[in-house]
Order: sequence, then C-alpha cells, then structure tokens
Amino acid sequence: MSNLIDGKAIAARVKEEVAREAAELAQRGIRAGLAVVIVGDDPASRIYVNNKKKACEACNIRSYEYALPESTSEEDLLALVEKLNADPAVSGILVQLPLPRQISEQKVIAAISPEKDVDAFHAVNVGKIMIGDFDFLPCTPAGCLELIDSTGVSVEGKRCVVIGRSNIVGKPMAMLLLHRNGTVTICHSKTRGLREICREADILVAAVGKPKFVTADMVKEGAVVIDVGMNRLENGKLCGDVDFDAVREVAGWITPVPGGVGPMTIAMLMRNTLSAAKLQNRVQA
Ligand code: NAP
Repeated sequence: MSNLIDGKAIAARVKEEVAREAAELAQRGIRAGLAVVIVGDDPASRIYVNNKKKACEACNIRSYEYALPESTSEEDLLALVEKLNADPAVSGILVQLPLPRQISEQKVIAAISPEKDVDAFHAVNVGKIMIGDFDFLPCTPAGCLELIDSTGVSVEGKRCVVIGRSNIVGKPMAMLLLHRNGTVTICHSKTRGLREICREADILVAAVGKPKFVTADMVKEGAVVIDVGMNRLENGKLCGDVDFDAVREVAGWITPVPGGVGPMTIAMLMRNTLSAAKLQNRVQA
C-alpha cells in the first residue's frame, strides 16, 4: 500500500506562507492583486473562479473579478486586458479558459503583459521556462513538482514519464523535470508501447483527461504517481486519470483526486501573484 500525498495539506502550507509574505509586503505599502476574468457562464469555470477568489482572501491578496457575458467580442476582451495591464493595483491577470468561440485564446494570452501573466502561458514566459530562467512557473506543473518534492524522492537521475503533451500541463511538466535532471519521456496518443514505457517510470505524471486511464499494470513498484486528471463522472463525482484503488497497491507514493494536484494549482497561482507583485515593485524575491 502506497503513501498518500496530501495535496490539500501541502497547499494549505503554501497558502499560509504566501499570506504571511503578502501581509509583510502590504506593510511596505505594496498590495498584491489578482484580476480574474471570466467570459460566459460555464459552471466548471465558475467554480474555479470562486475558488481562486476564496484563495486570494485567505492569502491577503486583493481580487478583482470581471464577469463578462458569453457574447463578449474579442475586441472588448482585449481592451479589458490592456486596461488591466496598465493598472498598478493589478499584479496578476488570469483569463479563465476556455473562452467562447468568437475569441482567440492565443490572441488574449499574447495580449497579457508577461510580467502579469501568472498562469505563465505567454510565449515569453514559456520561452523563459524552456531556457530555465523564469519568473513564474505554470501553476499545475509547479504544484506537481512541489508534491513530488514532498515525498523526499529526488528527481535527479530518475526515469520520469509524463503522459500528455498539452501546453499547460504535459510539456511544461516535462521541462521542469528535465531542469531537475530527470530523464524524461513524454507520451501522447500516438505513443507506441505506452504500458512498457510507463512501467519504467520512477516518477509517473498522468495528464490525459481520461478516467482511470493508468492501471496498476502500467506502474513500477514503488513509483511516485502524480494524477493531474480531473474528470467529472456521470454520477457527478470527480475522478482522476489513475485507477487509484488498484495503483495504490503498487505505487510508493500517490496523489488522490480530489485533494491532490487541484488544490496545489490554486496555491501556486497565489504564489505567482505574490511573485508578480514583487517583480513589478522591484522587491527582491
Ligand atoms: P489535453 O490538452 O486534452 O491533453 C491531453 C493529453 O493526453 C494530450 O497530449 C493527448 O495526446 C494525451 N492522450 C490522450 N489520449 C491518450 C492515450 N490514449 N494515450 C496517451 N496519451 C493520450 O488536457 P490537459 O489540459 O493537459 O489536461 C489533462 C487533464 O488534467 C484533464 O483531466 C484536465 O481536466 C486536468 N487538469 C487538471 C488541472 C488541475 O489543477 N488539477 C489543471 C489542468 C488540467 P495528443 O497530444 O496526442 O492528443
């Protein structure tokens, strides 16, 4: 039976740390602030946005919400982003994805000032991550790394396998593991021999978006298994990409869903917002 990685508890510790630092910063007259923009009324997006607002309150970070109708034009959203870029009270800008069809996500991401891009999706920040000299890390991969660190297992020299190659999770995750001197393989839907590749992993990160995709026969005995998946089942329950009950019999360490990567993503967003406020005010990190 594997050890459980308690993302909720680790996220709570990160948020306490951010809250303390944000309060110290406020005493020096600098208030960190996060602008969250939501377009339309997707229920999942609404939940994420509410959770981010709550986290801001807990972390002594001001939050500014902009809820725009589904019919919002690309031009109007870009104008709002420009306004937020110029607003000194706003340290970080987060535009909740997905956006309605008439708006190009790429154009909106490109319009956010890289210094305020707390999601680290802007090409400038992606490039900085690639060369290993970055201001922010994308929240979900950064949270996964923090969870791996909590196990005490060092990434250096380990076989790491990331299933999924999205720009927001898989690719940056692989890059962070590489920066930590892991030997990294990225798998995707065209990968051949996925089971065998996964079975070699000392550290396995699943970011596929398919419930219970990773089965026990894909996992090496004692491996660290990080489950990024957030799949809503027909019964309304949340389910990860890993077949948790079976895999926990084989793995050394495993994250649950819910209570694993999800809370860490928000905690890392808080940390990034604080870093953005410091960066913009030339405060040493
Ligand atoms: P995505 O953009 O849909 O990417 C999924 C990846 O999985 C793709 O690279 C795809 O390969 C790969 N894949 C699909 N079927 C596969 C198969 N049979 N074998 C191997 N690889 C396969 O998803 P994402 O945005 O990265 O998110 C992944 C999951 O994480 C989702 O459940 C999402 O909800 C969750 N998520 C959670 C958090 C959090 O905070 N916990 C944050 C972000 C995302 P191809 O590239 O070849 O299509």
